[in-house]
Amino acid sequence: MKLQEYRSKEILASHGVPVSVGEVATTPAQARAAADRIGGPVVVKAQVLVGGRGKAGGVKLAADPAEAEARAAEILGMTIKDVTVRTVLIAPAAEIAHEYYLGIVLDRASRAVAVIASAEGGVEIEETARTNPDAVLRLPLHPLLGLLEHNVRRVAFFLGLSPDLRGQFGSILRGLAEAFASSDADLAEINPLVVTAGGELLALDAKIVLDDSGLYRHPDLEAMRDANEEEPSEIAAREAGINFIKLDGSIGCMVNGAGLAMATMDLVKLAGGEPANFLDIGGGAKADRVAAAFRIILDDPNVRAILVNIFGGITRGDEVARGIVEARATLQRQVPMVVRIVGTNAAEAAQILEAANLITAASLDEAAARAVAAARGEAPA
Ligand code: GDP
Ligand code: MN
Repeated sequence: MKLQEYRSKEILASHGVPVSVGEVATTPAQARAAADRIGGPVVVKAQVLVGGRGKAGGVKLAADPAEAEARAAEILGMTIKDVTVRTVLIAPAAEIAHEYYLGIVLDRASRAVAVIASAEGGVEIEETARTNPDAVLRLPLHPLLGLLEHNVRRVAFFLGLSPDLRGQFGSILRGLAEAFASSDADLAEINPLVVTAGGELLALDAKIVLDDSGLYRHPDLEAMRDANEEEPSEIAAREAGINFIKLDGSIGCMVNGAGLAMATMDLVKLAGGEPANFLDIGGGAKADRVAAAFRIILDDPNVRAILVNIFGGITRGDEVARGIVEARATLQRQVPMVVRIVGTNAAEAAQILEAANLITAASLDEAAARAVAAARGEAPA
């Protein structure tokens, strides 16, 4: 789960990181009032969970409250990478002498939490890493000891910070590391971390991405979820207790078990198709959950066929088959359905499915091939 800039800044501030705090506004009039309270020049910033807002025109300076109102009117309602801006942050404008990048990330490549730093901040770090990899430091941390003082010095030297900034830099990096660890984050970044004209370090932009699996420990962070910016289908799935991730293909997948779901998606690709989603329906697979899963899958207009792959262990295949037939009858939109049920009571399941005119398959290869053919509008082989 991604947190908006202003939420991320609140968290960093609570760990002692100097940030340009401000106020959020959802109307131009509120933006004007906020700028008035702040006093002096402000920056008006679109609060959307995508990068590159600056380039897209979602970050603008305003000299006074009237200008803040005008800039907010321009930014509110604009779309940045398909997301409509509904909130802006009004923050004191900083005078920038230099922009750095500073981040802490769960780095799967080094199997460690790593500090990422660059003296070429302000732009997207992925871009710098591609065009000028030597300008990016990637420093894995000790898994038990975490951020140590020599790590801090190493990063400060890499960035070429002047000696008078090193003390402040140390407390910022320690604060960032604390914020990362205590919120169970995958990423906590400051981009840009600036040296102001007055010679102080200041976090002008912040982004925290939380590990969804750790969220149950943080009800306060869970409450910061921005439903406006999530796939409606992913919200519906979470409410139904289904693990679901939307993808771009045409073959909807309904599977019990995460590993089996991954294998099913692999075989769909091997058969020449593209999965429309990852979906793990979990144990039990009762009719109401199956119906919810079908509705979520079919909400995606790109879906042309559904592949159901169920391994009956404790779950009995015939119960699942009955659930599928029942759920299917309630659906608004019908697409070809290929169902493979193996394990407990597979034979009874096959009878139920065939009586209901569903396409069945004994092996997963066969099921994937049939689903791909069905999605292309071909008759089952
Ligand atoms: P992003 O493009 O979504 O990462 O948004 P940022 O908040 O990082 O802003 C993009 C750029 O706008 C920064 O790299 C700065 O160059 C500029 N910017 C942001 N805030 C200020 C500010 O207070 N003063 C000045 N002069 N520039 C700013
Ligand atoms: Mn930024």
